[in-house]
Amino acid sequence: MKELELESFMHGLERRNPGQPEFHQAVREVADKLIPFINKNPKYLAASILERMTEPDRVISFRVTWQDDEGNVRVNRGFRVQFNGAIGPYKGGLRFDKSVTLGTLKFLGFEQVFKNSLTTLPMGGAKGGSDFNPKGKSDNEVMRFCQAFMSELFRHIGKDTDVPAGDIGVGAREVSYMFGQYRRLENQFTGVLTGKGLAFGGSNVRKEATGYGSVYFSREMLATRNDSLKGKTAIVSGSGNVAQFTAEKLIQLGTKVLTMSDRSGYIHDPEGIDESKLNFVIKLKTESRGSLEEYVKEYPNATFHKDETPWGVKADLAYPSATQNELDENDAKKLIANGCMLVCEGANMPSTIGAIKEFEKAKILFGPGKAANAGGVAISGLEMTQNSMRLQWSFEEVDEKLQMIMKKIHDKCVEYGQEEDWIDYVKGANIGGFVKVADAMLAYGVV
Ligand code: GLU
Repeated sequence: MKELELESFMHGLERRNPGQPEFHQAVREVADKLIPFINKNPKYLAASILERMTEPDRVISFRVTWQDDEGNVRVNRGFRVQFNGAIGPYKGGLRFDKSVTLGTLKFLGFEQVFKNSLTTLPMGGAKGGSDFNPKGKSDNEVMRFCQAFMSELFRHIGKDTDVPAGDIGVGAREVSYMFGQYRRLENQFTGVLTGKGLAFGGSNVRKEATGYGSVYFSREMLATRNDSLKGKTAIVSGSGNVAQFTAEKLIQLGTKVLTMSDRSGYIHDPEGIDESKLNFVIKLKTESRGSLEEYVKEYPNATFHKDETPWGVKADLAYPSATQNELDENDAKKLIANGCMLVCEGANMPSTIGAIKEFEKAKILFGPGKAANAGGVAISGLEMTQNSMRLQWSFEEVDEKLQMIMKKIHDKCVEYGQEEDWIDYVKGANIGGFVKVADAMLAYGVV
C-alpha cells in the first residue's frame, strides 16, 4: 500500500481547491500530524480516509437579496458547508463578515469536524455565513438580511440534519432573527439553531461557553506543570463574545488581564482590566458597537495602540481570541522572548503555521483552537439535548458539564499527544478528533 507523504498530499489538495489559502493552511496543520499516524494504521490508509475527510460532504451556495434603509436592493452571497456528518447532525456556526469566502468557510468547517468530535458529543462539522458586512448597518437592515438569509437556508437545515449557531458577526440578535424566520417558514418550534435566547429554548452558559471553556482548558494545561492561573498576567486579543468571557473567567480565577483588542487596535491597562472595566467593554461592544479607543477616555491610565496587535506586551499567558492568522511567527518569537508560558486559542486558527512551529520549538504550553475553544460548540450540543428533552438546566449544572467536557478534551489530547518531555496538543487534538470520525466512516463502508 502506498504511504501518504505530506507535500504530495498537499500538492493534490491545493490543485483541487485553488485560491483557498486558509483551507490549505488548516489541512496542512492537521495532515502534518495525521499522516504518520495514518501510515501506521493500514485500515485508514486503505480506505483513503484523509482524502475523503478533506472533501466536504456538500457545499451549498446561494444568493441573498435584501433591501437597505434607503430602499436599495442589495445582493450578498450565502453559504453552508456541510463538511462531515459521519458522527451526528452537521453542527457549526454562521459567520457574517466582509472577509467571508468559500475558502474561509471550508477551513472553518474542516476544523469544526475535529472540534465537534473532541467534545465527546454526537455532532458532525459544518460552517456557513455570508460576505455581508454588519458594520454600520442599522438594526432593521440586520433583521432584513437575517430573514432573507434564512429564507433560503431553511430548506437545507433541521434539528436532525444541520444545526447552525453564531460566529463572528452573528450573536444573540442575529440568531434570534433567523430562528424567528425559521419558525415562521416551517411552523415548527425545534432546536434548529443554537445560541438562542433563554426565553425561547436557549441554554444557560452558551453565551459564556467558548471563553469560559478556553480558560478551563488552560487551567488543565497549567495543572500538567503543577501550576495555576492565580497571580498570572494575561494578554487577551479580541473584544467580541469569546474575548469578553475569556477575560471574565480569568478575572474570576485571579489572573490579571492586561489587554483586549479590536479592528482599530489594542488597549493596554497595566493595572488590569477588572470586572467593572470589562463591563464597560462589553457595553461598548454589544450596545454602542464603538471602538476600544473609548476605553482610554474612561480609564486614562491605560494606553491605546492604534492598528497594532498586543503580542509585544510582557505577560505569562496569551489568549488569541479574535480571528484567524492574528498571531504570526514574529509575534510568537516576541511572546516567547517575554517569558510567555502558555498560548490558548479562543479563536479559530489564530496562530499561523510559523507561529505554531515556534511554540513547539520552545515547548511552551500551546492549546490549539479545535481543542481549547470547543466549549462553545459543546454547550451548543447540550442546548440541542435540552431542546430534545424540552427542559432547561440551571447555570450551575451546565457550567459543571462544561468543566467536565473541557477536562475530557484535555485528557484526549494527552492520550494522543504525550511525548517524552512535553505534550504535543496539536497532535493530540488532531488525532484525538480524527479517530472517532474515521472509525464511523470505515463502519459505513465506501459511501
Ligand atoms: N462558532 C463556534 C465555533 O467556532 C460555535 C459553533 C456552534 O456552536 O455550533 O465553534
